Amino acid sequence: MHYISTRGQSPAQSFSQILLGGLAPDGGLYLPETYPVFTDADLSAMRGMSYHDLAFAVLSRFVTDIPAEDLRDIIKRTYRAEVYCHTRSDEKADDITPLRTLAPNLHILGLSNGPTLAFKDMAMQLLGNLFEYVLGKAGQGINILGATSGDTGSSAEYAMRGKKGVKVFMLSPYQKMSAFQTAQMFSLPDENIFNIAVRGVFDDCQDMVKAVSNDHAYKAAHQIGAVNSINWARVAAQVVYYFKGYFAATKANTEQVSFCVPSGNFGNVCAGHIARMMGLPIKHLVVATNENDVLDEFFRTGVYRPRGSANTYHTSSPSMDISKASNFERFIYDLMGRDAEQIRVLWGEVDKGGAFDLSQSPAFKAVTEQFGFQSGVSTHADRLNTIRKVWNDYGVMIDTHTADGVKVAWERREADVPMIVLETAQPAKFAESIREALHQEPSRPKGMEHLEALPQRFEVMDASVDAIKAYITQHI
Ligand SMILES: *Cc1c(COP(=O)(O)O)cnc(C)c1O
Repeated sequence: MHYISTRGQSPAQSFSQILLGGLAPDGGLYLPETYPVFTDADLSAMRGMSYHDLAFAVLSRFVTDIPAEDLRDIIKRTYRAEVYCHTRSDEKADDITPLRTLAPNLHILGLSNGPTLAFKDMAMQLLGNLFEYVLGKAGQGINILGATSGDTGSSAEYAMRGKKGVKVFMLSPYQKMSAFQTAQMFSLPDENIFNIAVRGVFDDCQDMVKAVSNDHAYKAAHQIGAVNSINWARVAAQVVYYFKGYFAATKANTEQVSFCVPSGNFGNVCAGHIARMMGLPIKHLVVATNENDVLDEFFRTGVYRPRGSANTYHTSSPSMDISKASNFERFIYDLMGRDAEQIRVLWGEVDKGGAFDLSQSPAFKAVTEQFGFQSGVSTHADRLNTIRKVWNDYGVMIDTHTADGVKVAWERREADVPMIVLETAQPAKFAESIREALHQEPSRPKGMEHLEALPQRFEVMDASVDAIKAYITQHI
């Protein structure tokens, strides 16, 4: 299996070659040159599999340059009940992604039982083990530099902690994350994890990372890498749980399901699109956004118009406060018949801060009719109402992001097609909104009751590119 760029001007690469990188050299995103397709007989064989066997069945089609027994071992070490242990009392931990039925044909797929209580652990834990393996084979090291406002940073740190050959330098805005998120990151004792609290806002952190990445000489000399949401291995790892959710909600491969996905960077739902291309019987992929509705605007009107940070709202589902969906290019590439020339034209506009309009193109009809996409928006009031309704009617506490998904799922549900909402975080991470909706504290998973009381390790720094470069140079 080889990987090609959506912009068509980079050489094809193997999985291991693109694992540690980000964008292709031509500015595009990597995708498999063709999607592997599972037959009905394949699906029947996969139906009863454990999570790790299913993950191997899917990922071994994408990862063809790691010996099968090594890949199987990496996957088995990743998808264990001990890693995805923060299940509710009525869930089985070795399900890894338990399916909870709220009402007939309305389910929630639990994806946030990993170490940081958000779905990003589903892919990031695998990435940590893959990085260690590939770097070990090559006798190399990597220094991951990232910026976070919460979920991504903690997920990356918990995935990379203690990994040989890997150091993580994670910038976050000083005193601007929730107490829980801060404690999650800053309490890690591992020597390869460096928390840097920047006097500024998230955008200042992001700008520092961009400045270092654009200094190609510094980047190469210091082995600087990233683990952002465009990383292909993260998308590939997310494909697996669409299969798992499908099998859990159906009895035969003749049945279809729909998925509703709380979305920001389009990474999670992009994996759903790929699962569908691989032959999984998915009827609709419903994209749920919050007030930052740039994706909903596209699915309604055909116009993709990313917005700047001045027009990005701070909401109570903060991990979806994104106005430029970095994985969207992957879907549009498939939509345009994999015509890289057209992608260069469309993203020529986007990269200049502009927009594109497909409303008059035959491709726009295909978005729903051929590719099954739908969308919807959820607001702060919708989140609170949905959290209350799910709690009162079903006794299940959900977080604000999952609530965005449930709200839109209700609107889009069809009587005879199971709808599976992807749960993207646990309510304990967003206690303030739970208090607002339910006037009570969300329960904390075992072992996390006193997280904020643990000693914290972090360095406070001005928003200075020279300061972060000097800090990295000194600590590698
Ligand atoms: C990252 C995140 C999302 C958005 O996922 P994308 O793949 O960026 O669309 C939604 N909810 C939570 C809790 C997240 O951490």
